[in-house]
Amino acid sequence: MELAQQSPAGSGAAQLWQGALARLVRRLNPHVYQSWFCTVRPEALDAHELTLAVPSVFHQDWLSNHYLALIEEAVAAEGGARRLRFTIDPSLEPAEHKQPEGAAPARVEVVREPRERIPSRLQDRYTFENYVEGPSNQFAYAACQAVAERPAQNYNPLFIFGGVGLGKTHLLHAIGNRIHARNPGWNVLYVSGEDFTNEVIAGIQHGRMDAFRNRYRTSCDVLLVDDIHFIAGKDRTQEEFFHSFNHLHALGKQMVLTSDRFPHEIEGLEDRLRTRLQWGLIADIQPPELETRVAILRSKAEQQKVSLPDDVAVFLATHIRNNVRELEGSLVRLVAASSLKKRPLDLDLCKQELRDQVLRSARVPTCADILKHVASYYNVNVAELRGSRRQRNITLPRHMAMYLCRKYTQASFPEIGAAFGGKDHTTVMASVRRIEELIRTDADAAMAAEQLSKLVDS
Ligand code: ADP
Ligand code: MG
Repeated sequence: MELAQQSPAGSGAAQLWQGALARLVRRLNPHVYQSWFCTVRPEALDAHELTLAVPSVFHQDWLSNHYLALIEEAVAAEGGARRLRFTIDPSLEPAEHKQPEGAAPARVEVVREPRERIPSRLQDRYTFENYVEGPSNQFAYAACQAVAERPAQNYNPLFIFGGVGLGKTHLLHAIGNRIHARNPGWNVLYVSGEDFTNEVIAGIQHGRMDAFRNRYRTSCDVLLVDDIHFIAGKDRTQEEFFHSFNHLHALGKQMVLTSDRFPHEIEGLEDRLRTRLQWGLIADIQPPELETRVAILRSKAEQQKVSLPDDVAVFLATHIRNNVRELEGSLVRLVAASSLKKRPLDLDLCKQELRDQVLRSARVPTCADILKHVASYYNVNVAELRGSRRQRNITLPRHMAMYLCRKYTQASFPEIGAAFGGKDHTTVMASVRRIEELIRTDADAAMAAEQLSKLVDS
């Protein structure tokens, strides 16, 4: 592979860039190197700054967003730290950009260190085949498939977010299983945010950070991190994750992350991480519609080789609305009851066995319920809560009501805003954050939140 083009101007710049490229080529996927680095032309060099010409603004943005730290590091290693400046020269648009005939496939392993085989921790019962698709999860499902088909070629990272029990973990394993089946030699690593944190702690405690880094940087081909929000507020873990992320991204390795929140909503997450989590594609999963819930139940019953009458499936799906895990749990309980009591699995049994659970789930509070509770608790009226007066005796209850809506309903921030007379979702986010803060610092607010939670959740 050719290392660099000669610069007509500034041989100091050319020399420095040659050296930097020689370092970069060792750390980058050849495809990345070829596409983004071969066309860069060193323009000028002074004591403070290295100027690089690139073919387009897009090219410049891509380099700055993805490889700036790596380039700076390589330049610094060659001739001392320099600021990088880019200029645009469209004539650099490459003829030699495309891969030469008969070149190796895009994804070639460039890391030379010995690679250990790492247990993937993938659960093979979660596959794309047994994930039921519907309008609520279609986008996320398609994005996950795209990533599994062509790792690191489409979206990197892929960030999946959605409420509890909606199938994030399932999809993450499905991606891993598919990639693993096609590329048996790859190290596909699944880890929860919690385990990642514990491994950092153990690594520090036992002086084994090298092994940790080897695992998550050098040896890893695909990194799947479940519930990434768990690392928020944990400085050392965030630091380690940040470096692993940069490393893997520069090497063109696929990463997929899940969370129950949008990156902006994850409190205590460093900004530089927040930005990176949004580099690729963000796909959300919403609670499934009735038809999808019925289809999920049928699919689970089929997997367990249970025959599930239609009226039972519809009854369950009508009453358990927000959480697929609960839906699945209700089926498991029903099957157990039927076999223990030696009774047919029918609507009668279903109603009897699930009465408690169903009644509880059927009463998922709505924003309107919460507004009523909060209004009577603080002795104000609902219209005032939904209005825009900014007196403290109104704003505190208003923020509290938004907080409770977030906690007890599945409503999104914009939906909550709408329930509060059309307020902006950022206003809702700020209010929720304010109450979370108050609960930590103010005993009265904490007490009010607790009493109201009991009212709302009873
Ligand atoms: P999350 O990680 O979002 O909390 P999980 O992935 O653990 O949720 O899903 C909870 C359970 O619901 C799992 O057993 C999963 O297989 C099942 N599940 C969720 N969504 C679907 C779906 N669309 N099709 C089939 N099973 C689903
Ligand atoms: Mg999960």
